[in-house]
Amino acid sequence: MTEKPFRLLPEVGAENAHFWQGGAEGELRFLRCQACRTYVHPPAPVCPECLSRELSPEAVSGLARLYTYTLNHHSWVPGFDPPYWVAIVEIDEQPGLRLTTNLVGCSPADVKIGMRVRVCFEEREDGIYIPLFEPENS
Ligand SMILES: [Zn+2]
Repeated sequence: MTEKPFRLLPEVGAENAHFWQGGAEGELRFLRCQACRTYVHPPAPVCPECLSRELSPEAVSGLARLYTYTLNHHSWVPGFDPPYWVAIVEIDEQPGLRLTTNLVGCSPADVKIGMRVRVCFEEREDGIYIPLFEPENS
């Protein structure tokens, strides 16, 4: 495996630990409203659909489609070397449930809006697992 890139790591707390640590079990997890079953991301204390406060983490399949992307060629962050893909993916379980992420394991010729992708995780320090996405059939 190649060396892991430098990343600005998230601050993990009670409200988002399910998301950043789910990769330890290979799970992509979002808060889900237990009243109306809506997934809520980014984490919030109240369901935006029904205003319930009964939100609990649940795993999704990790399957998604590429909603949009850009291939970055500029060195914005020292140690996080271009080129790299910045992507927004839409999670299969719910239209509009979107995640900003990086695409990995693909070449420019592979990448098309609408393509099928699946989650993979990059393990970092302090039990943090960054959810990344790769082509589903790679
Ligand atoms: Zn709800």
